[in-house]
Amino acid sequence: MNLAKSFAISLLGLSGTVIEVEADISSNLPGFVLVGLPDASLSEASARVRAAITNSKLQLPARKITVNLSPAAVPKFGSSFDLAIAMSVLAANKPFSNSRLDVCIHIGELGLDGSVRAVNGVLPSVLAAREAGFKLAIVPTANLHEARLVSNIDCIGVGSLQEAVRIHNAPDSVGNSAQIAEPPAGQSVESDKDIADIVGQDLAVESMVVAAAGGHHMLFIGSPGVGKTMMAERFVGLLPDLSLENAIETTAVYSISRNRGSIGANLIVRPPFEAPHHTASAISLIGGGSGLPSPGLVSLANHGVLFLDEAPEFQQPALEVLRQALESGQVVISRAAGVARFPAQFQLLLAANPCPCGNALNPKAHCVCTPAARQRYVNRLSGPLLDRVDIRLQIQSINATQALLEKDKTDRLTTTEARMRVVKARELAAERLAGTGYSLNAHLPSALMRRRFSLSKQSTRLLDVALRRGSISMRGYDRCLRLAQTICDLDELSVVDESHIARAVALRGSENSTRLAA
Ligand SMILES: [Zn+2]
Repeated sequence: MNLAKSFAISLLGLSGTVIEVEADISSNLPGFVLVGLPDASLSEASARVRAAITNSKLQLPARKITVNLSPAAVPKFGSSFDLAIAMSVLAANKPFSNSRLDVCIHIGELGLDGSVRAVNGVLPSVLAAREAGFKLAIVPTANLHEARLVSNIDCIGVGSLQEAVRIHNAPDSVGNSAQIAEPPAGQSVESDKDIADIVGQDLAVESMVVAAAGGHHMLFIGSPGVGKTMMAERFVGLLPDLSLENAIETTAVYSISRNRGSIGANLIVRPPFEAPHHTASAISLIGGGSGLPSPGLVSLANHGVLFLDEAPEFQQPALEVLRQALESGQVVISRAAGVARFPAQFQLLLAANPCPCGNALNPKAHCVCTPAARQRYVNRLSGPLLDRVDIRLQIQSINATQALLEKDKTDRLTTTEARMRVVKARELAAERLAGTGYSLNAHLPSALMRRRFSLSKQSTRLLDVALRRGSISMRGYDRCLRLAQTICDLDELSVVDESHIARAVALRGSENSTRLAA
């Protein structure tokens, strides 16, 4: 019987399914048939595999070869199945002397010369292989670093089909220690963008620290040139390094991305920062594309920061998908072939001008916008999206005298100092929220919040009065409580007091979006 099988992984989103690759060699007329729902790039595998085997001086019988990829119902994309197909065909022709095909997963694209080329998505594939109980993964050498981020599975890199064959013919292939490198340590690179560069905007700096500590989404409103972008770029430095679990998830998203795939070679330990232009389409934010769906910017910003400069200028569909991603923390891309899911837990920073001409907050310039135009402008960001933004900060430009006074100050808070405060505050929050499944104040649902936050009756008096008078909504009330708890954590105090609430009210800003520019 000329039958053999090997294993590969089919990815959809970040989840992988084990695919059994069976090869049968029969005495019919010579040919190569691939069955089991392959997409266009996978159907071309037969040509690549045939040429690669011949050019590697390995034997390919002049008989009929049938390769079946099962389960047939699972959609399969791309060229990463080539290696598994070639190995199963070779084994069907002539069994390997020390075959480990049954415990091994093969990932890699073949060149016509028999070389094994790098593919996208190796990290999530190896994760799926480990989950399925595989002990060994044979991957392209170029992807070995990435594969070795996964613990508890042996990974061997191969540069050619012949090397892969040698592994299955060697007496003890797993002890192939020359191939096994140490997993790459993720590097925490300090950015040269420090919050100490922000001159004369102490309230803005404080708000950023609060936003970072509690995971609160934030909106900057200010005239052009006031430094909104500069502040946003410095925000990501305030966030602590990613936990190992989050780092692997973020690296996996990069690994599968067609645009950023090559970056996935090292573990990403710093939170990512994505700043799409306001002309960005909904698809580029959410992901998609033909064939294997590729993650969009909201997923590339997973566990990091998504910054929308000139947020009201974004197209409505783009803002709409953003809202959905914020609500669910993930992106779901439906295809005829199946549903791809990508994580999308990001912190949102928005920047907006106060009005279309940008001068509404500038005492030295004259705003030429009509009230109706202003209204239309702020309404673009209205409703459900803004509901999720806890901090709304108006940034005033500083005048020349202030700038001169502030310029030479040397005791400004640095990013490193601020990050230490953020880390400490996050630890306190995580301790208090232990067992809830949440770790950041901003994420906590309202019902849980009242039970978990340590509020005194006295502290909320200010808010209670405002609520009774109708000057604050219930949602605004909860938002203030979340912010106050974060401020309290930053002060390293155990109970929220009135001063925390008062500072929270100041950070929350105007509740009514139509009053943004007022
Ligand atoms: Zn204006």
